[in-house]
Amino acid sequence: MTPSLQLRLYDTLTRDKRVFVPIDKARVRMYVCGPTVYDFAHIGNARPVIVFDVLYRLLRHIYGEAHVTYVRNITDVDDKINARAAERGISIRELTEGTYNNFKADVAALGCLTPTVEPRATDHIEEMKTIIERLVKSGNAYVAEDNVLFDVPSMPDYGELSKRPLDEMIAGSRVEVAPYKKDPQDFVLWKPSKPGEPGWPSPAGIETLGRPGWHIECSAMAWKHLGETFDIHGGGIDLVFPHHENEIAQSRCAFHSGVMANYWMHNGFLQVEGEKMSKSLGNFFTINELLADWPGEVLRFNMLRTHYRQPIDWTVKGLEESWKTLDDWYWVAGSAVGDRISNAMLAALGDDLNTHQVITVLHGLRNKAQGGDEIARNELAWSLRMLGFLRESAADWAARRQTNADVDATKVQSLIDARTAARAAKDFKESDRIRDELAAMGVVLKDSKEGTTWEIAR
Ligand code: AMP
Ligand code: ZN
Repeated sequence: MTPSLQLRLYDTLTRDKRVFVPIDKARVRMYVCGPTVYDFAHIGNARPVIVFDVLYRLLRHIYGEAHVTYVRNITDVDDKINARAAERGISIRELTEGTYNNFKADVAALGCLTPTVEPRATDHIEEMKTIIERLVKSGNAYVAEDNVLFDVPSMPDYGELSKRPLDEMIAGSRVEVAPYKKDPQDFVLWKPSKPGEPGWPSPAGIETLGRPGWHIECSAMAWKHLGETFDIHGGGIDLVFPHHENEIAQSRCAFHSGVMANYWMHNGFLQVEGEKMSKSLGNFFTINELLADWPGEVLRFNMLRTHYRQPIDWTVKGLEESWKTLDDWYWVAGSAVGDRISNAMLAALGDDLNTHQVITVLHGLRNKAQGGDEIARNELAWSLRMLGFLRESAADWAARRQTNADVDATKVQSLIDARTAARAAKDFKESDRIRDELAAMGVVLKDSKEGTTWEIAR
């Protein structure tokens, strides 16, 4: 624990970076919007998962593991889910269960801790209905043709998070304006289920079966697990409007509170090789596909090289550089023991999760460690572990690199042994010849006082 560490976070609501002060330091509470489980998650979805995992680790470090509650929901009721289950001829539960299990495996490979609670939307229908009933009662929602809609003009300060001009919000919502809406901005809290769709008994006196809108799910799950007001709410920047704006409207009006969460945090978007990731462009990658070619720690490291609020350009070149850096750090610190986390690293992290600066600090420690500074080596190892790296032994890491390439490791080792013998006999012509032979196989040698290691040139 480092109680003196100052954490500052950028809040999208107030548009400034503020010192983080939890409502109750014995129970720090964070909610992050999780996946809609209809298919494998893509690498863009991995960004909020990794970014908020780093924040979770930092909060646990500052306040103690038992004092942080992290809720990341699972959206398991959605049009895309219904369509996909029908397409595949399986039940909705089968689809969402399988997809959720894939998601869990992917994010574990990325080094992410399991959140304290991973609530499913379909287990919180009662809480959603309670909120909806309250909103109808307080005059913030109305029933129209078996839908329940949130009455946006009933909330005078609606729109504070996105700060979009009113005409823009109206234009945005007009795309799907239904005739029964009193105002084009009004959004759905509950809607009737069509035949074949999942349905539940409806709130507000509606007699047909219905299902919740998307935004109400998060208000309900956050309320159930974190209370009416909590500390941090996170997600990708695309969720600011309308999703988070509408969560705020629902929760504040239902609970008559001025605040839903004290800090609203949003990660920037990920694009691939300079272009928006899309299936039609052929540059769409699932986490699962990438894990076949790159270790999870490489994907994680590559994600953290860019500050979370900046857009990130995901490239093969970046991944190769990330892998090389991790090879080097594993080699320098992979087997170091100790329990010291670098204060400079923590200070960078505490500055609105400046992971770009964290990496600069770690490079500095690496150079000191290489010069024989054992404290720096210890701090490098422990800082990396806190961030979710060095989860393998240095030997396993190096072996993985070697088996990833088409090189006969036994042959490489016997050539290295022959070269070591030639050098001992001062036969430098022979030792150079062997080094060149290895280079022709794509093998790069690293000599140190501990001996010679090797890696595949990339
Ligand atoms: P979804 O399943 O589309 O609701 O997305 C789950 C999470 O991933 C949300 O927090 C999104 O904001 C985030 N997300 C989706 N696409 C990207 C992307 N390309 N870059 C960064 N975050 C993304
Ligand atoms: Zn949400």
